[in-house]
Amino acid sequence: MRELRLPTIGALITIFILSIFSFGVRGEVQSEEGTLKVSFLDVGQGDSTLIESPTGTQVLIDGGVDSRVLTELSHVLGFFDKDIDMIIATHPDGDHIGGLIDVLMRYDVHTIVMTENKNDTPVAETFQKMVLEEGAKVIYARKGQVYDLGSGEAGSTTLSILFPDHDPTNLESNMSSIVARLSYGESSYLLTGDSPIEIEEYLVGQAGSALMSDVLKVGHHGSRTSTSENFITAVSPTYGIISAGKDNSYGHPHKEVVDRLTEHNVVQKNTADEGSIVSETDGSKIWFR
Ligand SMILES: [Zn+2]
Repeated sequence: MRELRLPTIGALITIFILSIFSFGVRGEVQSEEGTLKVSFLDVGQGDSTLIESPTGTQVLIDGGVDSRVLTELSHVLGFFDKDIDMIIATHPDGDHIGGLIDVLMRYDVHTIVMTENKNDTPVAETFQKMVLEEGAKVIYARKGQVYDLGSGEAGSTTLSILFPDHDPTNLESNMSSIVARLSYGESSYLLTGDSPIEIEEYLVGQAGSALMSDVLKVGHHGSRTSTSENFITAVSPTYGIISAGKDNSYGHPHKEVVDRLTEHNVVQKNTADEGSIVSETDGSKIWFR
């Protein structure tokens, strides 16, 4: 009996270890080779978007309000990935940078793109302190910066900064939001943080048809202070992604915005209804899963 029992226990341990390993691998959502993956993470009432380029470069734009982003990141990146190439803090409001504090504690971050705009809130001060401690390369975002995230079969993946075009220290926080356009082949995403209509109108005047994108991350969680008629017309998106919390106290997304997008035949997806929304593109078509 004794000789039989030992190998049986050994086999059980082996099966147990193998099942943990295979669960870990299955738990990740793997990018298909040569695709760009953009995940709109469900962080409740806040924003967090993860870009994974065809060569595996990872860029996290905002991190929601708290550590919830870590759970969502480990679902997408896998438990063992503890490096992020770049984080972008669009503006220093808690629902965007709160979770980035947790990200900086958990992950090695190589580059931090942010602006000079500061809030004197405790969360913004903690974020500033964490940025200094991280020892990452810090870049202040400016219009004209283009980050090459690596090439796939459809060409290079680029993240272009469209705003701010000057030092936004004296702007109201939402107005200072970094606006960026991501493109790979013929596919493109426009990411606007909490930019209000004043900035949208400014961008339409400055960039016009260069704003045109397949996917619009709808500004300010679908608040009526963003997503003007002119802006939707200029961007002309097929999809509108809303990042908002279920039954949030702001009533986001506001009905006017939903109606305006519907009139423009924009397919709307909301993290409050769907959880994290994962999109992928081969540079010509975009699909969701
Ligand atoms: Zn916000």
